[in-house]
Amino acid sequence: MPIETERPLPDPDSLEVSTLFPLESVRRLYGFMYERRSHPPATDEIHQFIAGQFGESQSEAMRRLRSLRDCFVVRRYRDGHLHRYELVGWKPVHADQMRLNLSARVRAQVLAPQRCAQCGKNPLEDQVKLVVDHKLPLAWGGGDEIENLQPLCEECNSGKRDFYATYDPYAEQIRAAVQQEEPHGRIGELLKALQGNWVPAELIGVVASMRQYQDDWQRRLRELRNLGWDYENRVVRATGTRAISEYRLIHWEPWPEGSIAAAAKRKQR
Ligand SMILES: [Zn+2]
Repeated sequence: MPIETERPLPDPDSLEVSTLFPLESVRRLYGFMYERRSHPPATDEIHQFIAGQFGESQSEAMRRLRSLRDCFVVRRYRDGHLHRYELVGWKPVHADQMRLNLSARVRAQVLAPQRCAQCGKNPLEDQVKLVVDHKLPLAWGGGDEIENLQPLCEECNSGKRDFYATYDPYAEQIRAAVQQEEPHGRIGELLKALQGNWVPAELIGVVASMRQYQDDWQRRLRELRNLGWDYENRVVRATGTRAISEYRLIHWEPWPEGSIAAAAKRKQR
């Protein structure tokens, strides 16, 4: 079976894996297979692992393995009287699906400005290739709606991926923050989720603008102070040229009953 070779296997604790497999038993099995790549487990060991972890039967174990195989190539081979299962790589079909599930029309619409939304390079003059980027990654609760899509050159896109990967451990909390109805709630929950770490302004802006666009999310952030919240701000220069503004939560308060915006306005007066 062909394997997607360019794409390394994701870390068992990564966001990618938790997005692919909502079932914990499948995620754990992936982790087990991942750890045992150099010494692939035999059928019995897989049964024992699943039974030991979840008390599930042998047929359940094989069902979990089939779920893994929806996304990954697991090679089965003979070793004496045993059958071993080796986690080899991504299934190409899945890699293609993961790449982008957008219609040609939507892609054309997003790429129409013919300019990278981050560095401004364009294909004609700069020989860059533009790709469709999700402002808020899919795995963090972003969607395929046009407001969440932008053209990026491949270089900016891969830079962004690396940068956002820093926050993958908080993916679950970020997904929860995005669900908040009000921008104040999304901003506040994001800062809380990052547990006092510095959060880039760009990320706050993107999360604040999910559900409805916020042209002044900084103001929403300031309004949190009316509710007794406190945070600090700093500006760092990441790559020598581009200044990045960051925020860090110092103190938070429980959300008021009802509308946060209304409560913030009341307290201001
Ligand atoms: Zn770019």
